[in-house]
Amino acid sequence: MVFGVRGITLPDRAVRTFVVDGDRLREGDCTELVSDGGWILPGLVDMHTHPGSEGPSDPFDDAKLRRHLEDHRDAGVLLVRVPGSTVRIPAWAEQDLALPRIRSAGRWLAPEGCFYPGYGREVGEHQLAEAAVEETKAGSGWCKIIGDWEPGEASTSLGALTAAVAAVHEIGGRVAVHCQTAEGGRHAVLAGADSIEHGMHFDVTLLDRMAAQGMALVPTFTTFAGIAGRARERAPGPLRDWVLEGWEGMPAIVRAAYEAGVTVLAGTDCPPYGNIATEVGWLAEAGLPAEAAVGAAAWTARAWLGEPGLADGAPADLVVYEADPTSSPGVLAHPKRIILGGRVIR
Ligand SMILES: [Zn+2]
Repeated sequence: MVFGVRGITLPDRAVRTFVVDGDRLREGDCTELVSDGGWILPGLVDMHTHPGSEGPSDPFDDAKLRRHLEDHRDAGVLLVRVPGSTVRIPAWAEQDLALPRIRSAGRWLAPEGCFYPGYGREVGEHQLAEAAVEETKAGSGWCKIIGDWEPGEASTSLGALTAAVAAVHEIGGRVAVHCQTAEGGRHAVLAGADSIEHGMHFDVTLLDRMAAQGMALVPTFTTFAGIAGRARERAPGPLRDWVLEGWEGMPAIVRAAYEAGVTVLAGTDCPPYGNIATEVGWLAEAGLPAEAAVGAAAWTARAWLGEPGLADGAPADLVVYEADPTSSPGVLAHPKRIILGGRVIR
């Protein structure tokens, strides 16, 4: 079946018509329009989500994985990067054409005794590079390393992280590093990792280097807003102060990162799934221009991942809005049309 979609595309703000020809987009005229008018974005991207389990005490479950992916899809998120999961993402989920495309990182790689017990794959530093290669091959080209945890706990050493990044790059993979301390963030930059996840307490003097290396920052404000809210209710203490200081410092770090030319991308991290509009709102509130905030969940994320956007011959993954999504982050939460792999989802 061949049908067309016409509207204003972002970020170029041109009126364009796409023909949906099977599972591909072709640019050109079409009289059988399923959508005429409005604003067309490539399928949205959630750069940091862990479908299949709602937290460390929630066992991974295939039915939940499907439901979480459907929640993403129904919010217009047609591509997810899964930076770590408690079990490797099963092949059926990556092959199901009705679900968002998945770029997974295998199991979280965590130093022994750090991270949530039993949630990731605990490895000693001497095994990290080998395990990183294994998880990269088991996933779709990514691995995820817990680079640090709470203050007072040792970060993954710079030497071990550097060796792991080099080994993964050697096989063409990429490395995402969980960082929430200054030391963890510094190690990730010096080791040449590809993305910093979270980035609280990050040393902004490293931002220029981060930009020069083509690294991305995925701050996951949505989740840390919840963590900070719960911390405020706790009795004062060093851990609570550290969490709140990290949270309060994040907008300035993210704004400085954007201004330094670091690719800032949108990821929601924790449930609810399909909540990308909230994260885009946080990015805008941190000071990203509206178009950069929306791009962080759309064309910028796709370009950084090496995934096609709205282009002739690209997979037919697009989302249509009645209003300009850069006019208000709330617009992004209400797609009028969703097309995934040429199928009309809505
Ligand atoms: Zn995460």
